[in-house]
Amino acid sequence: SARWVRAMAIVADLDERCGTPLAKLRQVADAMTVEMHAGLASEGGSKLKMLISYVDNLPTGNEKGLFYALDLGGTNFRVLRVQLGGKDGGIVNQEFAEVSIPQDLMVGSSDTLFDYIAAELAKFVAQEGEDFQLPPGRQRELGFTFSFPVMQTSIDSGTLIKWTKGFNIEDVVGQDVVAELTRALERQGLDMRVSALVNDTVGTLAGGRYNNKDVVAAVILGTGTNAAYVERAHAIPKWHGLLPKSGEMVINMEWGNFRSSHLPLTEYDHSLDAESLNPGEQIFEKLISGMYLGEIVRKVLCRIAEEASLFGDTVPPKLKVPFILRTPHTSAMHHDTSPDLKVVADKLRDILEITNTSLKERKLVVQLCNIVATRGARLAAAGILGILKKLGRETLKNGEDQKTVIALDGGLYEHYTEYRKCLESTLTELIGEKVSESIVIEHSNDGSGIGAAFLAASHSQYP
Ligand code: ADP
Ligand code: MG
Repeated sequence: SARWVRAMAIVADLDERCGTPLAKLRQVADAMTVEMHAGLASEGGSKLKMLISYVDNLPTGNEKGLFYALDLGGTNFRVLRVQLGGKDGGIVNQEFAEVSIPQDLMVGSSDTLFDYIAAELAKFVAQEGEDFQLPPGRQRELGFTFSFPVMQTSIDSGTLIKWTKGFNIEDVVGQDVVAELTRALERQGLDMRVSALVNDTVGTLAGGRYNNKDVVAAVILGTGTNAAYVERAHAIPKWHGLLPKSGEMVINMEWGNFRSSHLPLTEYDHSLDAESLNPGEQIFEKLISGMYLGEIVRKVLCRIAEEASLFGDTVPPKLKVPFILRTPHTSAMHHDTSPDLKVVADKLRDILEITNTSLKERKLVVQLCNIVATRGARLAAAGILGILKKLGRETLKNGEDQKTVIALDGGLYEHYTEYRKCLESTLTELIGEKVSESIVIEHSNDGSGIGAAFLAASHSQYP
């Protein structure tokens, strides 16, 4: 029918515009490397902030004692405690709790957000059992993982540059988030010192390094996306402080804000961006991360419903609701292996109230999920190639048997199998089979929180 022809034309057009041939991915990777240099050269020199983390020593495995961490990311926050055994002792004991952040707190005031967090942390501390040991007279210490762009002034202080990922609490912007948390802890009567403020990428890097000394970079693919890596301190022109003894400094790239004329942006992306809380910002993030993939699919479906009456003469009302279709839903549909695509039918019915779909229509939906996820995963691989190039690890060095390990984490990477497989195979395509033997992508399961606890240990007030 004419409707179906029109629908297929829209899909074909999307597929073409979302295309990421290797040549394009190489251009994206090169642009990433160029921006990394520019961001390191001067403050404000690039869309990539290339933030100095003040982490110049990564965990060695010798850390010892009881430490807490608080991981505030996108939709949930986690609190954890870990008892570290020191040299050869490893992680003796570990406990965590996860709490979801009520939607209204994400756009409320600083005090309500931090009071809520501090109260949950206080509850968790109150449950500390005998298998965790704090030496008498010592204050508890905390690593604070805060997954938003922060201009740090030391390992334990930093001001929020801007919110991302659906958070928007104006009175925190420009404030020291450690001071905000510390005041909330005091209001709770909780005696605890924030010893390290880290981005989740930096935490993941630290968590990865604790287990594997070849870890040199970390990438988060969750609600948002970001990356951090170990840079040579003398390759950071904008750093005017003393050169650290280690000669190294972890850089939080804030790569979600990367943009380049080589990125395959469609009308759907432009519209998503324009309607977002942060128009013009986090363009890379809006192409590849979990908060947005489902929404892009929804926008395309909505267009097809409008222009090709895909689901009947009127557009199903639910399809017009922004962010109603989440990435876990599109992921579930994408992974549907049943012959009649039952999962797709169920999701369309339960979430969008679209019933009686034909197999042909369900297949179209799967195709859309695939196009959008594939573009995201391949661009993420290009970003990783950009980092490898900056590190000079994208080729094999003569006579060297150097392994390069990149720690990956985040709900998108963890749960969206097709996305993960595509990312990994694309990276291999980009660097070649031979080099890819020296590059390892390692899942760092919830490394961001525990990594912050390790960093709290190495920056403890007690020698
Ligand atoms: P955050 O990024 O908020 O710190 P996570 O790393 O746990 O938290 O990532 C959560 C995100 O991962 C969700 O917002 C969602 O986009 C994505 N996600 C979670 N589960 C799935 C899934 N089954 N399939 C695809 N994406 C998922
Ligand atoms: Mg997180």
